[in-house]
Amino acid sequence: MRYMVGYLQGQDPTQTSVFAVQGDEAVNLTGQDQSIGTDLMGLINHPDAANHVLGLIDNAPTLPLSDIVPAMPVARPGKIICLGLNYTDHIKEGGYDVPEYPALFMRGLNSMMAAGEPMIRPSCSEQLDYEAELMLIVGRRGKHIAEADALSHVFGYSIFNDGSVRNYQRKTHQWTPGKNFDATGPVGPHVVTPDELPPGASGLKIESRVGSEILQSANTSEMLWPVDKTLATISEYATLEPGDMIAMGTPPGVGHARTPQRWLRPGETIEIEIEGIGICASPVVAEESLLQGGISQ
Ligand code: MG
Repeated sequence: MRYMVGYLQGQDPTQTSVFAVQGDEAVNLTGQDQSIGTDLMGLINHPDAANHVLGLIDNAPTLPLSDIVPAMPVARPGKIICLGLNYTDHIKEGGYDVPEYPALFMRGLNSMMAAGEPMIRPSCSEQLDYEAELMLIVGRRGKHIAEADALSHVFGYSIFNDGSVRNYQRKTHQWTPGKNFDATGPVGPHVVTPDELPPGASGLKIESRVGSEILQSANTSEMLWPVDKTLATISEYATLEPGDMIAMGTPPGVGHARTPQRWLRPGETIEIEIEGIGICASPVVAEESLLQGGISQ
């Protein structure tokens, strides 16, 4: 199944629904059953989501997918854990050694937004960089998850752009500031359940581009810590909860490692595509233009 959370074009952005996507059409699942709620948590916690949804979409009215504006798939994830340095060639381009343990860090909710929403280049830096990543959403609670059982804890897969402000990332050995500027981490728009993808979403082409300029092009099979190993590793220290998000790291080709360095500029749209999942597109805007418009106060 392919899901999307969003609201209808021109309507109240706070009135979100869960949609089942079929080609370029969608069924409003929340409209069919209010108990599903306004984001994916209702389905994540449902004991038999797949069959319930199949029942709901049978003979249900559809609407054009283009009428829906994406919102965050999970409105308030309990935690957002990100892997750094998970593709060998990206480790090399950053001048790091291949780690023996994944470089884990966290992002807060203020840094995240839905696909399609503006990615904000902050007023204090020009070094806004893109990172194409696979994002997984946890479906089932677990501690000390065994690698062999790990994939059964995944609700679905989506797309993430781990937008990074490089000079702030490197101000200290903790990456927190550079990875947590407001509205730099778009996620979505679709969440695809594991049954529609290869195990662990491995073997999928992953790409980032601005217009016709391809900036990253790799395959999710190149990850050093694939999804099962990552879930086992994280759940050794933290209980994974339904709705938690885990970002799987980026392949080579990021802006800071290019010659000349290639930062995202206001007016551009950065697209991240993962085969079989979709495209996460974000227009880049300057923080100053939002301040002048009085929006972000
Ligand atoms: Mg990253």
